[in-house]
Amino acid sequence: MSALVRPASVTPEFLNRLVSRVPGSTGQTWKLTEVYTGEVLVELPQSTPSDIAGAFAAARAAQQEWSQWSVAKRLAVFKKFHSLVLKHNETIVDLIQVESGKARRMAFEETLDVPMVTGYYLKRAKKVLAPKKHAGPVPVVSSSLEVRQPKGVIGIIAPWNFPFATGISDAIPALIAGNAVVVKPDNKTALSPLYGVELLEQAGLPKGLFQVVCGEGPDVGPTLIDNANYVMFTGSTNTGRVIGERAGRNLIGACLELGGKNPMIVLPDANLDDTVKGALFGAFGNTGQICMHIERMYIHDSIYDEFKARFKAATENLVVGAAYDFGPNTGSLISVEHKDRVAAHVADALEKGATVVTGGKERPDLGPAFFEPTILEGVTTEMLAGRTETFGPVVALHRYATVDEAVALANDTDYGLNASVWGSDLDNAIKVGRRIESGNVNINDILATAYASKGTPSGGVKQSGVGARHGDQGLLKYTDCQNVGILKKQVMQVPDDKPFEKNVEEQIKGLAIMRKLGIR
Ligand code: NAD
Repeated sequence: MSALVRPASVTPEFLNRLVSRVPGSTGQTWKLTEVYTGEVLVELPQSTPSDIAGAFAAARAAQQEWSQWSVAKRLAVFKKFHSLVLKHNETIVDLIQVESGKARRMAFEETLDVPMVTGYYLKRAKKVLAPKKHAGPVPVVSSSLEVRQPKGVIGIIAPWNFPFATGISDAIPALIAGNAVVVKPDNKTALSPLYGVELLEQAGLPKGLFQVVCGEGPDVGPTLIDNANYVMFTGSTNTGRVIGERAGRNLIGACLELGGKNPMIVLPDANLDDTVKGALFGAFGNTGQICMHIERMYIHDSIYDEFKARFKAATENLVVGAAYDFGPNTGSLISVEHKDRVAAHVADALEKGATVVTGGKERPDLGPAFFEPTILEGVTTEMLAGRTETFGPVVALHRYATVDEAVALANDTDYGLNASVWGSDLDNAIKVGRRIESGNVNINDILATAYASKGTPSGGVKQSGVGARHGDQGLLKYTDCQNVGILKKQVMQVPDDKPFEKNVEEQIKGLAIMRKLGIR
């Protein structure tokens, strides 16, 4: 730890500049720390309800003009932004790493999400947002235009585990659709999203359109939701319920991307080299703090022992540590409190009869919030680690005999965010995957194939969420549909001198003919 040198880009001047855009009228601050050392990096202003209302007012004023820009003119900003994000990749990775303590490899992977989302909507948004003409009730003389209007100001609440991706990627389609945005990042990880906003403004985003407010969730959340026209939330299922309730009372829409307890099924014909490598990432990538990561593995009886031996050996070979280079495979947990929660899940499992295959201990020698990559056996649904999301580097191995049994075990959860199925017979693996109650399913991969397919909406089912990001849905959810009906000539009024019975006869005949002609 003594050799740890903070990245050169992370200077006090830079960090103070970043946080200076956060409104905090009382002068109250939150000490944002470097996870690897616990040292204070910067004093983050905390926004009061009136600061938040002010941020919304400024955003709403800027949105008036932005919404009048053509989609092409708005997209020109995002084209520049795409280049800037790639150009300043190293600085973004530095910020993500100091504030989250994740391994540099993972911080780098996180940065890729933003240009991928931007690139997708650069290609697709014009078509999706263009007004669409539909047939009206009377052929030829009537029609309807589906017009996509921006909702106004979108409130985004983001978690700490992917601060840059969730803080910025979800804002991109909202802005492209003509909205303003107010983001509330987690206090712990406000730096990388703040830098993202700076880059957007460098790319030409009008000042004021993208506001950032900071504070503890329960303090900031209510005012944010009460001022927003739509809420995009990523975080835990418990908080999602609170957000959804308040949005419902205000009669505004909400997209809720929540937690998971994601299963992996290894079929007897799986390629074990690939599967073990996948399992390592699934269980321990981002130190087990990926919403789509794997906490439950179901392995066919015929390959269980071999898989277990190889997975154990590979886990023990992982490089765990605090370093601002690409050396370590995994890094720290986000905080000492979170490490204690993960340790409590493991302790509870061991007390109730689970056993450790490898790991299971805290690593204070590496930093204040390190926990070993841990494989458990004998975990049951009576244990915390068997039922609720641990969100740490802890995975449970289970044997199964039949596919029906594996699918039933995978589905025995309140969550439905992600599932991973491994097998050489693709058709069979897909068939198994489609039986899992999960918003995302990855065949021969853990999560990236589904999540990085930006054309397909991605979201959770059951207690893992409502709505989705990506795809057309990920853009259209930030719009209201205005239905403009156009009648070229008034032909639908019943003339005063026409008996109504005649009108009834004509309408019924008309509908029958239109059906016959395939008009409707
Ligand atoms: P969290 O719910 O504690 O916090 C998420 C955000 O909500 C933070 O910004 C927090 O300050 C804020 N918040 C907390 N209470 C609030 C309230 N009452 N009102 C308004 N805002 C409030 O979650 P977390 O621990 O930061 O993040 C980890 C969780 O996020 C895990 O459950 C993980 O699975 C989930 N997650 C889901 C996805 C997904 O796409 N489904 C992605 C990343 C993380």
